[in-house]
Amino acid sequence: MANIPREPREDVVVVLLESVAKGASLPWHRQKLVLILSAMRHFAASLEKAGHRVVLRKAPTYAEGLATLAQEFGATRVVATEGREQDMVDELERARTQLDALGVSLVLREDRGFLATREEFATWARGRKEHRMEWFYREMRRKHNILMEPDGTPSGGDWNFDADNRKPWPKGREVPPLWRTEPDAITREQMERVRGWSNRWGTVDTFALPVSRADAKAWLERFIVERLPEFGPYEDALVHGAPDLLHSSLSSLINVGLLHPLEVVKRAERAYREGHVPIASAEGFIRQILGWREYIRGMYWHLMPGLRTANALNAPLPLPQWFWAPDGEAYNGTTGGACEMRCLSDTIRQVRDYGRTHHIGRLMVQCNFATMLGVQPAALSRWFWAGFTDAYEWVELPNVAGMGTWGDGGALASKPYVASGAYVNRMSNYCGGCRYNVKQRTGPDACPMNFLYWDFMDRHRERFAKHPRMRMMTKHLDGMDADELVQIRTQAQQFRESLSYDG
Ligand SMILES: Cc1cc2nc3c(=O)[nH]c(=O)nc-3n(C[C@H](O)[C@H](O)[C@H](O)COP(=O)(O)OP(=O)(O)OC[C@H]3O[C@@H](n4cnc5c(N)ncnc54)[C@H](O)[C@@H]3O)c2cc1C
Ligand code: SF4
Repeated sequence: MANIPREPREDVVVVLLESVAKGASLPWHRQKLVLILSAMRHFAASLEKAGHRVVLRKAPTYAEGLATLAQEFGATRVVATEGREQDMVDELERARTQLDALGVSLVLREDRGFLATREEFATWARGRKEHRMEWFYREMRRKHNILMEPDGTPSGGDWNFDADNRKPWPKGREVPPLWRTEPDAITREQMERVRGWSNRWGTVDTFALPVSRADAKAWLERFIVERLPEFGPYEDALVHGAPDLLHSSLSSLINVGLLHPLEVVKRAERAYREGHVPIASAEGFIRQILGWREYIRGMYWHLMPGLRTANALNAPLPLPQWFWAPDGEAYNGTTGGACEMRCLSDTIRQVRDYGRTHHIGRLMVQCNFATMLGVQPAALSRWFWAGFTDAYEWVELPNVAGMGTWGDGGALASKPYVASGAYVNRMSNYCGGCRYNVKQRTGPDACPMNFLYWDFMDRHRERFAKHPRMRMMTKHLDGMDADELVQIRTQAQQFRESLSYDG
């Protein structure tokens, strides 16, 4: 997109390609397909309206599509944006080979959908033993002059207000409604198209994301007014049936190119400067985009290609069927029974029905459960990549194999994000209505998050015994009654064996 001439040119054809191979490479969520296919069509229409020559085509692969169209239009040069992730980098190299054979050159331009270049991040990362997000984020604040005072100090007197952002959702307070952009005729056509596609996942009828620039900007404005003022304090809160709560739900729109990250960051900063939003919320939100999003993308390239198979904790298991079918519905001809863990089944249902759940559901419920159970990071990553409307390998893989499962052995997070049921109980309203008892560690009603947590600590006791932030827990294990520990190990193993897994 960034490489399209501002003014239409007779000698330039803008090409948008649908790759059949890419579309069949994973069991993609139907809403993710609708988002991409419909956004492409809206974009094509807006370019045509502005006078550009546009071609939207389906091709067996991107490389073949480019070669065919280059011949059809007698092109001498193809200009494309550099690959955002490894598969696209490889595909563009295949395209280069095919185009070379036709005497057509391929020129790759920088991806302008980020606020740091790959080279910039690589320079920052080079020679550092530790790559903590916080240090990179501060450099980005200075570079883009966001939330900075004229004397070079951070606005509000601090770089980070995370300590203020840890509140559960108040009891009895109404949950804000999910936003809906009514699907127009173009979107409805794509919904019908993907509805019948086999080997795809997820509900299509609830699709309500923006697919045009105007609607995406309207969601940004709505977020700034309705949710940003209280974004910070409730960032970590979980509520049954609420995929967004006060989160922005903008990730899918930023990642697909409908919003630019800098416009989102600047809009949030303006809301703070104009006095509509407290610093803790403005900074907390800006850190997600200027800090986390850029850092995650940088770390993806820093850790590839090993990140795809990273499994530092030697987790052995495939993905439990529950992740595809939380209500015990048939999936790929089998059923794994209904998931009775209220936290896990609800967050998975949100993904199945909307293609999203917010950060804490992903990290502290889904990844937490999978890590403690012993699911291979690559198996979990495949689910995240296919199932979320905002997921692309460059962003889901570091989040899953790094932050979520500690598969990278600590390159991203100093310790695994594992927690017992007590955390879920503190931050959510899940446990009250759950069939399990969050206070029990063993026994038929014990919360699985509890025995899996202590079993995890036990299995990795040696590794974490000297870890400054984990040794308290391993010490607690040392003091645990021997019979209880045996019971925990047995119950965790029986639980593992009771589940159905991806074949
Ligand atoms: C296991 C796991 C998998 C994830 N997979 C993805 C993914 O595939 N795609 C994706 O965009 N985000 C991913 N995230 C990050 C984060 O959870 C989502 O960006 C966020 O939940 C999207 O909802 P939102 O737009 O309401 O976010 P908000 O909470 O409103 O945050 C604002 C924006 O900050 C950015 N952001 C925040 N955290 C991260 C992060 N850790 N990495 C990258 N960007 C971030 C997003 O662009 C997001 O829109 C993942 C996190 C975890 C723990
Ligand atoms: S009791 Fe355990 S399984 Fe049930 S909702 Fe709470 S944490 Fe989840």
